[in-house]
Amino acid sequence: MSAQILSGKEVAAAVRAEAAERVAALRERGKSVGLATVLVGEDPASEVYVRSKHRAAEKAGMMSFDYHLPADATQSDVEAQVRVLNGDDRVDGMIVQMPLPAGLDGNRAVETIDPAKDADGLHPFNLGQLALERGHLRPATPSGIMRMFDHYGIDTAGKLAVIVGRSFLVGKPMALLLGAKGVDATVVQAHSRTRDLEDLTRNADILIAAIGRPQFITGKQIKPGAVVVDVGINRTEAGMVGDVDFHSAVAIAGAITPVPGGVGLMTVATLLANTVTAAELALAG
Ligand code: NDP
Repeated sequence: MSAQILSGKEVAAAVRAEAAERVAALRERGKSVGLATVLVGEDPASEVYVRSKHRAAEKAGMMSFDYHLPADATQSDVEAQVRVLNGDDRVDGMIVQMPLPAGLDGNRAVETIDPAKDADGLHPFNLGQLALERGHLRPATPSGIMRMFDHYGIDTAGKLAVIVGRSFLVGKPMALLLGAKGVDATVVQAHSRTRDLEDLTRNADILIAAIGRPQFITGKQIKPGAVVVDVGINRTEAGMVGDVDFHSAVAIAGAITPVPGGVGLMTVATLLANTVTAAELALAG
């Protein structure tokens, strides 16, 4: 049997359409919505991501502002740019595209963002709010995954969720969201020092792979019928692949996200939704 495909395309289209409706409603009340990106250096993958964020923002009726700093920009150049955007009323949400060039501190740059404009939901204030199970701006990738679960009616209560990866960007906030009251998964957070990883993954009802290693998880490490979410984006000679070996996994899993066409699309859509939320909150004062 072949797993159900959890299509990021389908769900992201729904999230983007909702965002566009909310943007139109704000415009009727005299409020425009703006997303700004800060990109540093010439990383081709980052340039592609930033372009796709601008295209998506413009399609949703938002203004989008693209700030591109040279590869030799200093930490204080980056932070100064963020501060300018903090003070720019046209900008409701912003992101600093990661990774920054070597020698620059991404966490410090994110800490400079006004938490009310933190479209990626990665500022320590917003991560703290998430840990307290409140707040509005949540990390885009794990929130997008939760939205996919809602869309496809995936039941999380009492399920064993194994998250492979513990980054602040994906793994850690994913664990907080899945373990929150009302979501109620039992969460295991694995990482590079985890022993006997396969014993864990083979028992997971929900398996989230956020590792950054091409096709690391194969079908034999998956419980039959499990929900498998592949966050990985790895560029290889064979093209873009996830952290899961799709070919062997699709035969074992009950449901699976493809790469491309899965979680990545949800990340962009959630970024837009967060930006509209920030604009609505700004209007509400
Ligand atoms: P990081 O490199 O920050 O984190 C990777 C995590 O995987 C770490 O916690 C690391 O453990 C763990 N890990 C590495 N090797 C192993 C191993 N052999 N066994 C078990 N765990 C291991 O990556 P990110 O979280 O930022 O990203 C993960 C992947 O997701 C990447 O491919 C990235 O490109 C992709 N990504 C995709 C997004 C999307 O929109 N689809 C958004 C963001 C990221 P340790 O902590 O011990 O080092």
